[in-house]
Amino acid sequence: MSNHSYLLSKSGFVSGVQCEKKFYFDRYRKDLKPALSVQQESLFEKGNLIGDFAKTLFDGGVDLGVTDRFDSAEQAKRTQALLKQSVNTIYEAAFYVKGVFAALDILHHQDGQCWAIEVKSSSSVKDYHLTDASLQYWVMTESGLKPDKFFLMHVNSEYVKQGPIIPDDFFTLVDITDQIINNQEWVAEQLKFLIEINDNRHEPAKEIGKHCSNPFDCDYKGHCWSHVPEENSVFELTNARGREWDLYARGILHLHEVPDNELNLTTRQQLQIDGVKYGKTIIDKFSIDEFVRSVSYPIYYFDFETINSAIPILHNTSPFQQVPFQYSLHIAESHSGPVSHKEFLAIAKDFVEDSPQDPRKTLINQLKADIGPDGSIMAYNATFEKNVIKALAEAFPEDAEFLLSLLPRFVDLLDVFKAGWYYTPSMKGSASIKYVLPALFPDLSYQNLEIGNGEQASTVFLEMITGQFKGNEIEMRDHLLAYCKQDTFAMVLLYNELEKISDSLGHQD
Ligand code: SF4
Repeated sequence: MSNHSYLLSKSGFVSGVQCEKKFYFDRYRKDLKPALSVQQESLFEKGNLIGDFAKTLFDGGVDLGVTDRFDSAEQAKRTQALLKQSVNTIYEAAFYVKGVFAALDILHHQDGQCWAIEVKSSSSVKDYHLTDASLQYWVMTESGLKPDKFFLMHVNSEYVKQGPIIPDDFFTLVDITDQIINNQEWVAEQLKFLIEINDNRHEPAKEIGKHCSNPFDCDYKGHCWSHVPEENSVFELTNARGREWDLYARGILHLHEVPDNELNLTTRQQLQIDGVKYGKTIIDKFSIDEFVRSVSYPIYYFDFETINSAIPILHNTSPFQQVPFQYSLHIAESHSGPVSHKEFLAIAKDFVEDSPQDPRKTLINQLKADIGPDGSIMAYNATFEKNVIKALAEAFPEDAEFLLSLLPRFVDLLDVFKAGWYYTPSMKGSASIKYVLPALFPDLSYQNLEIGNGEQASTVFLEMITGQFKGNEIEMRDHLLAYCKQDTFAMVLLYNELEKISDSLGHQD
């Protein structure tokens, strides 16, 4: 078997099950595939970290993981040799049969049984994990090694780190043997279908559909979706819940084509469509006034940035828990008065298990100095900030009184835009601050910032913690500060706009 001679890998199979056209493009039109995004790369990295950690649960195995992914022929040959030597545990054991190649995360022998284990960096078993495992089982069985048990090993999100992580408790083993045995006939049919597509070399005639984002956002949307308008298409319909596909099936691709008498649209959807069709801006002055009157000075405009590592880093945290590393705080003492700014950004190297200074404690201490005892705390999607604060209170009971006293002071600026009390067509149906800010202040957007969203901030800071960050850390810290500051400054500007509307009603206090 020469390099590249296998025609179907596990990922190819999962692709093909999602969409045969995707499978075809993966085989013959790689030129249509965009480069991996930073977020996709970071996801792979996370998966690798979990995979490596999982090996500690089945210690002492032979690792056939290859850095050159095309060296799969050698990997399969070596697997067979190790099996003949009755090696107990093999990582990345590989199998190749009838043109199908699949590597297994962990092959382990225990109590006279052969166990196949696939490791997933998620907190539960997903349908596509079963697809992937079913193919793995097929390849193994066809190669002459039928596992007695097949497990998926995923992260136990209930796990709380207390000292070094205990792999036995950190992972959950789920026995999926029966489910994947039941899938074997289906696997054989799917393989036949995909191999035919491979041999025919004709692009399958597959229309776009819900499968384009399920279970993964397809890389080829730029090609297959080129007939869909870039702006204001029915796929931008807010909270669409399948309605976009009903419209599409009726030949309606642009929101301005939605008939005036369209039934059963939500208020926000109607706002969005009227905005696109008639340029309608909505300002519900009385609801905005009521909101403004619920806010009291001094106002603390507040925003956290967090990491949510699959492998918890700090004491008393769980997998995927949102752990704060940064905040920005703009403080407005009075109506039309001056606004000051405070901020916190943790030191990445403090995020280690035995840090003499827990970065969360440093954050809490600074927060105590920065936030006064009275006035509203304004956030955009306040539930997130409140949940982070609740988790801090649990981890640091000595600070719980201060932290929990902040909760009733929160007001959520998102409510105004989510309810549609203030809507302009340029918000494009979204209430996200990333759309609302430039809609009201076109000179201000997130597009010119080096860090443009919370996910990117989180990825970069996590890389700094794990030592994977390659750039200039001092400069990147400035970019992180600039991003978080923009989020709270945006709130200052937006709230000022709301105050002007309230003032126009003659309620100025
Ligand atoms: S964009 Fe949709 S139709 Fe096109 S290849 Fe991907 S999943 Fe298939």
